[in-house]
Amino acid sequence: AARTVVETADAAPVAAALPAVVGAALRVPLVTGERVEYANLDNAASTPCLEQVRDAVDELLPWYASVHRGAGFASKVSTRVYEQARDSVRRFTGARSSDTVVFTRNTTDSLNALARAVPRGTSVLLFDTEHHAALLPWRGPNVRRLRTPGTPAEAARVLDAALAECPVGPRLVVLTGASNVTGEVWPVAELAAIARRRGARTVLDAAQLAPHRPLDIKELGVDYVAFSGHKLYAPFGAGVLVGRADWLQAAEPYLVGGGATSLVTDHGDHLGVAWSRVPERHEAGSPNVVGVHALAVACDVLGRNWNRAVAHERALLERLRAGLATVPGVRELSLFGSGQDRVGVVSFTVSGQDSGYLAAALSAEHGIGVRDGAFCAHVAVHRLTGGERALRASLGLGSTEEHVDRLVAALRSLITEGP
Ligand code: PLP
Repeated sequence: AARTVVETADAAPVAAALPAVVGAALRVPLVTGERVEYANLDNAASTPCLEQVRDAVDELLPWYASVHRGAGFASKVSTRVYEQARDSVRRFTGARSSDTVVFTRNTTDSLNALARAVPRGTSVLLFDTEHHAALLPWRGPNVRRLRTPGTPAEAARVLDAALAECPVGPRLVVLTGASNVTGEVWPVAELAAIARRRGARTVLDAAQLAPHRPLDIKELGVDYVAFSGHKLYAPFGAGVLVGRADWLQAAEPYLVGGGATSLVTDHGDHLGVAWSRVPERHEAGSPNVVGVHALAVACDVLGRNWNRAVAHERALLERLRAGLATVPGVRELSLFGSGQDRVGVVSFTVSGQDSGYLAAALSAEHGIGVRDGAFCAHVAVHRLTGGERALRASLGLGSTEEHVDRLVAALRSLITEGP
């Protein structure tokens, strides 16, 4: 299906070959009653579904059934689709052959599952500007929050020093691939190498990295990776936790129920329960076969299109940042300074303007969807803005130059002309 027009000769060939998203030409009403093409610049929250994902889901819908337990044809189809999805995720993440792939509901669920599975007494270290999904699941006296420093090199030094002081015992470092506030890419391989030297494992919150850049567990040297389907061009409801099996195998199941058990026996006053091995051990209940299939197809499609997708996004990001820099009063947020590599996520404040008002006006008067607030990363946004709310524009495969230009022009007119 046709994507929206891309105007320049340079961008057109790249954009034309990109995988298409569903609803690329949706029109939305403005306060004036006019309808315009929707400029969805909120891809960091959730991406629209790929057309190829929609088609794959459509094909599965007549067949889906409960996996693993049924002898019927539909159950066999679903079981095959579900297990093949693990292979897609393995390819997409460059998983080691010994890694397990656990399907969850989303990144939050994956990180909570891992938090429950770490051995008792594990020291957990993390930087304090993380998304709440990565910041909050870890509890207890052994959690150490590190103040995010101003450069990646300093982050490496801070982590190394903190690990040097860690008590003896298991250690886990929580890292983020790309910030959902600033889009900045963290030096994951360097930090993971430091962790490894200090005997710590690492978990990568890849919710924002996975949709934008190829990721390879082996190259990055991390132990676990978590991400969500709904940020990766699949609908809601499925996420993954990929990584080392031993802690997950030794842990109590994340949820208990059917699927997580291989045998339950009646001993009169108690039940004997043998828990399943990973990954089923942490996937109790009837799994989301359709969501997992959608996520897997999205992984396959993205995996075949990285060069085009990254080039498309880089060009648009440059245009967006250059455009925003021309708007009076706009201040882009940054953890590490303007030179840091970024994915297509930009947050900013506008001096003297309320971000809630601007976000509402962008939607009602210009048909542009952005996010405003603190983006589930309150510590980060508070520190970077001094307590203000911010606006965030985030790019995806359905984004076009026209969307970016419309945002920049709309902001300029809202700021210079006022309400
Ligand atoms: N981590 C980061 C960096 C995110 O941006 C998000 C979502 O915005 C999450 C984790 C949580 O993802 P989910 O809401 O899909 O669990």
